[in-house]
Amino acid sequence: MSLISVRDLRRSFGGVAAVAGVSFDLAAGEMLALIGPNGAGKSTCFNLLSGQLRPDGGSVALRGRALAGLAPREICGLGIGRSFQITAPFASMTVRENVQTALLAHRGEVWRFWRPAASYHAGPAGELLAQVGLGAQADRPAWVLAYGDLKRLDLAMALAGNPVVLLMDEPTAGMAPGERGALMALVKRLAAERGLAVLFTEHDMDVVFGIADRILVLDRGRLIAAGPPAAIRADARVRAVYLGSGEAGSGSGGGR
Ligand code: ADP
Ligand code: MG
Repeated sequence: MSLISVRDLRRSFGGVAAVAGVSFDLAAGEMLALIGPNGAGKSTCFNLLSGQLRPDGGSVALRGRALAGLAPREICGLGIGRSFQITAPFASMTVRENVQTALLAHRGEVWRFWRPAASYHAGPAGELLAQVGLGAQADRPAWVLAYGDLKRLDLAMALAGNPVVLLMDEPTAGMAPGERGALMALVKRLAAERGLAVLFTEHDMDVVFGIADRILVLDRGRLIAAGPPAAIRADARVRAVYLGSGEAGSGSGGGR
């Protein structure tokens, strides 16, 4: 069943049609990759879905409910989460306290200053940290975390909002090649467990083709292909777009 339906989505900047009529569906539990060269319009799509940008035309619906005109906070409240927005968590707080803070924020609760942070949602915070593989780091200050672990913390903080859809625009940016696959494999496992729908971009084509259930290929604001990895790999137009950096699916030539 489709959770998100995007129809004929459009957005221009000046004379540039960054997103020029994009339509797709995203189902519960699905890992959907959005790929395409630099400037193809991927980030603009993400920003239109999260409400960061207003579309010029077209529609986005969550379970049939149109999201037009809603503020990012409202869209987030309906269950469309975004990961990796917070690149710098509260450094002096522990890893667990950061997740507790995210749980408080997502649940719209007030932090009562006379109660120590450690008394709020400590159990759920610990569960989230265990799920992203940070259980052993829970009581360390966030500033000691390695870069890849910060990304896992950010994922836990996004999951604190209990989203039904997770938007991940280049979640593995800056990570070592080996870590990228591991993080996205973790996301895929969590998506399957929670029935979470994930839309993501990723530059490493090995990761994209290994992880995605389905791939959308964007070029100059338009989808030129959509389908399972095997079909995308064999698609002549996709190959043409990726020419010069190897064929799609055989290396990390995406995202130029
Ligand atoms: P991608 O994420 O695929 O690299 P973007 O969505 O960032 O692509 O950009 C698509 C096109 O829209 C590019 O030509 C880019 O220069 C343009 N663009 C994106 N955001 C803005 C903006 N805020 N103002 C003007 N042009 C923009
Ligand atoms: Mg981008």
